[in-house]
Amino acid sequence: MPNPSAQIRYILSGQGDGWEILSRARELARLGDPALNLCVGEHDEPTPPEIIAAMDASARGGNTGYAPLAGSPALREALAARVTARQGVARGPADVMVTGGGQGALFNAMKAVLDPGDRCVIIDPYYAPYPATVRTAGGVPVVCRAEAANGFQPTAEALDRACEGARALLVNTPNNPTGAIYTAETLAIIAEICIRRDLWLITDEVYDGMAFGHTHLSPAALPGMEDRTIIIGSMSKSYAMCGFRCGWAAGPTHAIKLMTDLALNLAFGLPGFIQDAALFALTDAADIEGRICGTFGRRHAVARAALAGATSARATASEGAMYLMIDIRATGMSGRDFAHDLIERERIAVMPGESFGNAAAGHVRATLTLPDDQLTEALTRLAGFAAARAI
Ligand code: PLP
Repeated sequence: MPNPSAQIRYILSGQGDGWEILSRARELARLGDPALNLCVGEHDEPTPPEIIAAMDASARGGNTGYAPLAGSPALREALAARVTARQGVARGPADVMVTGGGQGALFNAMKAVLDPGDRCVIIDPYYAPYPATVRTAGGVPVVCRAEAANGFQPTAEALDRACEGARALLVNTPNNPTGAIYTAETLAIIAEICIRRDLWLITDEVYDGMAFGHTHLSPAALPGMEDRTIIIGSMSKSYAMCGFRCGWAAGPTHAIKLMTDLALNLAFGLPGFIQDAALFALTDAADIEGRICGTFGRRHAVARAALAGATSARATASEGAMYLMIDIRATGMSGRDFAHDLIERERIAVMPGESFGNAAAGHVRATLTLPDDQLTEALTRLAGFAAARAI
């Protein structure tokens, strides 16, 4: 039997760390002994039924053939309007393409900006698929640490050092896994470095509706950034449509054109009935976004209240997205050991900070995807578990 490529092993190296907690949570559920699951970035509430009805009507109406590769004209227009309003950079329909989730947009954007061997800087802690996404596009991921002590915001010095000799920078605000929302100062640092070093910026803003207590700010809107920035967006988190796999990329027209041509050889577009569901959500049911996202704003407060006063499980500066990074260094344990013991002894599933690089070692990430009372119970027990292990 022929061997698989060596490249695939290289691309996937390191992938999978931490997912054993999720597998264990699933196994326990199967065995009838479920854990309180704070592992997965997916809503605990289903997709709103009116969105499903719009999809159903579209499919029954016959929209089941090949769809326009870059997205239907109406959806591209709606997305361009959203990006213009939300990110603050004027984009027209030709500057936006629909993709297979934000992940599809990330991959396609990487392909568009990286030549083989080009460096792409990612900020550690990072969304777990970032290194493999860069490698899949032939690039080399270079890590810049964003320290817990700095609220998981990268500093100018660290970022500038990492970006030396790079072709692209990938950032994510509001952030998964840390929940950090980049400050105007951090965004200015990012823009200054991209311009001075002539970098592409890929800005992953799939949580742009979850910048609680803040106005969402995009680095794409800063002077000099428009022509070097590709924005990544998604229906997954904002409208509880994870399984619809509908995302988008917005950037300079020529880059979007190239990415569309490339898509011809990839997924060959997104089903028309999914696009119609997204169009319905954006144009006829836009209030849903506030409701879906608002849940997580409230739960940030609930989670903080549950950990208030805990000295061995401290909530970090997480304010956005659906995540809370919890500092458990007072236990002397790694995030990995803590997460393993926690699921075995307390039946609470969280992700080790080490699953997202090195900068969140000694932390665990909790997704805020349980009803408020269960979230309070899980975090109160987690805090008690940590206190009993304080050194
Ligand atoms: N980017 C970030 C930071 C994420 O957290 C996720 C999903 O968890 C994605 C991109 C991909 O989302 P999707 O492909 O569902 O749009």
